[in-house]
Amino acid sequence: MAKSFEFLTEALRRLPGVGPKSAQRMAFHLLQHDREGAAMLSRALYQAVEQVHHCALCNTFTETEICDTCADESRDKCQLCVVETPADQAMIESTLTYKGLYFVLMGRLSPLDGIGPKDIHLEKLLARAADGVVEEVVLATNFTNEGEATAHYISEMLKARGLAVTRLARGVPVGGELEYVDAGTIARAMLDRRST
Ligand SMILES: [Zn+2]
Repeated sequence: MAKSFEFLTEALRRLPGVGPKSAQRMAFHLLQHDREGAAMLSRALYQAVEQVHHCALCNTFTETEICDTCADESRDKCQLCVVETPADQAMIESTLTYKGLYFVLMGRLSPLDGIGPKDIHLEKLLARAADGVVEEVVLATNFTNEGEATAHYISEMLKARGLAVTRLARGVPVGGELEYVDAGTIARAMLDRRST
C-alpha cells in the first residue's frame, strides 16, 4: 500500500468511533471517488485548526479573542449560565428568557471516561465566576447522571467561594439533554430556577 494512503488511514483513525476497516474505506472513497471533497476537507481542517480558539471569557469556540456573545454590551454581566456545549447555549438563547452571559464547559465530568475537573476547564470557570461582577451562576448542564454530577460538583466549588448558584428547575425530564428538549420547557425551567 502507498505510504501516503497509509498515513491518511492512520489520520482518519483519530476520529471517534473509526476503526481500521472504516478508515480504509473512507480513504479509498476520498481518493477514488471524491478528490474534490478530500481537498475541501483538508483545507477546512487546516483552517479550523489555525483559526478556532477558545473564548478567553466563556471558553466557547471563537476566531477572535472574545466571542460575539461576551463582547455584546447589552448582555447582563451579573448572570453567568454554565452549559455543557455550544449547542446547549444555542438552545437556551432560542428561549429568549435569558439575557446574561455564558460559560461553556465543552464537556461534562465523566470519571468512567477519564474526564475530570481539569478537562472541563473548572479553574477557568472559577476565575470567571469570581470576577466580582457576576452575582448569580445558573447551572444548565443536562439532566443526565453525568450532567447532574457535574452541576453538583460545580455548585459545591462555587458556593465554597461564597457565590450564589442556581439550577434549572425540574421541568426538564430526567435524563433529558437540553439540546433535545423543547424551548418552552427550557424557558419555564429557566424562569423557575432554584438555589442549590
Ligand atoms: Zn465568550
